[in-house]
Amino acid sequence: MAAGDYYDILGVSRNADDTEIKKAYRGLARKYHPDVNKDPGAEDKFKEINEAYSVLSDTQKRSQYDHMGHEAFTNASKGSYGGGGYGGGFHADFSGFGDIFDFAGDIFGGFGGRQRGPRRGDDLLMRIEVTLRDAVFGLDRDIEVMHAEPCSACDGSGSETKKTKNCPKCGGSGQIRQATQTPFGNFVRQSTCDLCHGKGKIAEKPCPKCKGSGNEKVRRKVSVHIPPGVDTGMRLRLEGYGEAGDHGAPNGDLYVEVHVKPERGFSRDGDTLLTKIQVTPAQAVLGTTIDVTTIDKRQLEVKVPAGTQGGRKLRISGEGIRKRGRPGDLLVEIDVVIPKHVSGEQKELYEKILGLEGKKKVTGSGNEKKGFFESILGG
Ligand SMILES: [Zn+2]
Ligand SMILES: [Zn+2]
Repeated sequence: MAAGDYYDILGVSRNADDTEIKKAYRGLARKYHPDVNKDPGAEDKFKEINEAYSVLSDTQKRSQYDHMGHEAFTNASKGSYGGGGYGGGFHADFSGFGDIFDFAGDIFGGFGGRQRGPRRGDDLLMRIEVTLRDAVFGLDRDIEVMHAEPCSACDGSGSETKKTKNCPKCGGSGQIRQATQTPFGNFVRQSTCDLCHGKGKIAEKPCPKCKGSGNEKVRRKVSVHIPPGVDTGMRLRLEGYGEAGDHGAPNGDLYVEVHVKPERGFSRDGDTLLTKIQVTPAQAVLGTTIDVTTIDKRQLEVKVPAGTQGGRKLRISGEGIRKRGRPGDLLVEIDVVIPKHVSGEQKELYEKILGLEGKKKVTGSGNEKKGFFESILGG
């Protein structure tokens, strides 16, 4: 599939709303539909338009696309097979064709319902868990998928000779017409042929390996690129890794839905990571440098300025989610821990400070609430 930004393909701005996107899509789809436009390249263009629309018209996919950028988004949907055995013939580029015919009836009208002929394979959905750390940096993960592939013995034809013949029951039309005579006239009922399931062809000699189905269940190792920045609920599409379609039709897609497991000591807010460090009252008053452990277990020195209040968040730039362009930040929240037990010497020093402070109240924003007793005594 030709590279190109989905927004450019549809000729809309990045903040176009659903209506604008739909309008642009319809205009272009009419112009480039292979039935209308016989120019070479029109079909590729049509596929491209459909791919762009299938992403931008879906709120979840669109936000994922905006977030990850074109490169990462499209790469995420290109897996690669590990584990050999299958010699070619597996096409990973079926972009959007499943979507096209769903829309076709809607746009052009009069297409008369479902498209006839070989049926595209079903999509598969698989859920995987990744750690928050993996979501920060991204990773490549091998997953095992059990799916139907075209039978290796008969190349998916379902026939031992790899040849098919016209269905004797329906004569190759895939449909059976039954005429019934009634007092009101002749009624013709049309139904899908039960011998060839509407395909019009049957195996010349059923393949013994797949029993004529043309498919076999195979367990495959698929390598998935999980881009940095993934979040729970995001789905990565691996084109063509779903179930096999009818002979001659594309495979379905495999969707990998990500669930990000929480990580102790860290939370996430978009591309920002949050962590906490504890300091003593003296460190908060006088300032200090303290080691912060990053999500990948590195130690970073952070300067806590003198006079730091509890709850203050210090920003470490670029230590958040490593997304494309500018990475997110790490916020370090300062937790001032008041010691419950102090040594004799510490106690003396605190008493000394207390003496110096005298009875003076803490001066702050001027918004301090009245004391508890003042309030109930109506003071
Ligand atoms: Zn038939
Ligand atoms: Zn077979």
